[in-house]
Amino acid sequence: MSTAAAAFRRSARLSGIEVSLIVQISEKAREAKARGEPIIGLGTGEPDFHTPQHIKDAAAAAMAAGDTRYPPTAGTAALKAAVVEKFRRENDLVFTPDQILVSTGAKQVLFNAFFATLDPGDEVVIPAPYWTSYLDIVRVCDGVPVVVETSADDGFRITAEALRAAITPRTRWLLLNAPGNPSGATYTPEQLRAALAPLADHPAVWVLSDDIYEHIRFDGGPFVTTAACVPELRDRTLTLNGVSKAYAMTGWRIGYAAGPKPLIAAMTAAQGQSTSGACSIAQAAAVAALTGPQACVAEMVAVYRERRDLVCAALDAVPGLSCPPPGGAFYVFPSCAGLFGRRTPGGAVLTSAMDVATYLLEAAHVAVVPGEAFGAPEHFRISTASATADLQEACRRIAAACAALS
Ligand code: PMP
Repeated sequence: MSTAAAAFRRSARLSGIEVSLIVQISEKAREAKARGEPIIGLGTGEPDFHTPQHIKDAAAAAMAAGDTRYPPTAGTAALKAAVVEKFRRENDLVFTPDQILVSTGAKQVLFNAFFATLDPGDEVVIPAPYWTSYLDIVRVCDGVPVVVETSADDGFRITAEALRAAITPRTRWLLLNAPGNPSGATYTPEQLRAALAPLADHPAVWVLSDDIYEHIRFDGGPFVTTAACVPELRDRTLTLNGVSKAYAMTGWRIGYAAGPKPLIAAMTAAQGQSTSGACSIAQAAAVAALTGPQACVAEMVAVYRERRDLVCAALDAVPGLSCPPPGGAFYVFPSCAGLFGRRTPGGAVLTSAMDVATYLLEAAHVAVVPGEAFGAPEHFRISTASATADLQEACRRIAAACAALS
């Protein structure tokens, strides 16, 4: 071992933070594919569509025009104006540009928010199933995630009782995500108001509303976000969104948020000492996404809906799986509890979603993410942001693999 390696020590802050289970499964699938196995990877939540052409053109034009210098830390004036207009047009929320922060993906917005507000031991209430990264981002920022169970019978929505029971004097945030990754859970305005009622008694608790899947909805109802739906909470809500999912722009790394000025100023200070601000070219592309034609979004959502329907129908018909169609986001999240206790042809007994995912990877060559990654150990996640033909073949193979269990 070299001296440098021997002397290496991780910070306490980073101890226990590893590459996420989702990335681990994707890498396992990539390795198997490289070995020549016919793997279908349904692990990552990333649109298979290309970024629409008018958005790419805007980036090329920005480059050609020399828009290649450090942008303002909180975002370009053009993108902040586009974000202000987006919130007005789509969410009936009025913000000024100094209430907007543009970051390198929605993920960096989350990081900035927690980095800027959490002291060691401060708590963040997170309903399960949750997006895997939430817990580790909170931990990296010295916070303590407080996971609140939800049930499939309640549509994976947090209840007022569960929220009330989770709040302590250390609670700083409630983190909401609807449509949710991985469950697809959505709220009606009445359901959201009822769930958040306990916050009236806890004025120090803020709400972070992760709206990244706003446009990917199949329930036909209005989009429901805390700042608009519960005006009493507006002064303590951070509304998070981005272009990754709606516009198939995951690689461009642009997310944004709107909230009270002191919070945005603190988050901007945090960002100023990490990235200095998001890529200027990508910000120009995001302006085109938010202000340009929106038909591309509806076209992609129509395809996600078709895929959701075909996958849910196919998997729900498999004995041992239960797969009600989710209201939004591009995942399906079947329960596989009905397979627990069954035996694989190799003689192993399936006792967890991790066992099921491992069996599906080995026997069906289909990579799914076990629910343990999301705090929901009886489910697994399939991304429907994958090619339709792959999804059809994957469902056929999953059904065959399940039929081979005894
Ligand atoms: N929030 C949720 C719920 C997500 O699923 C994701 C991406 N998987 C993000 C935030 C991060 O999005 P971005 O690509 O903009 O960083």
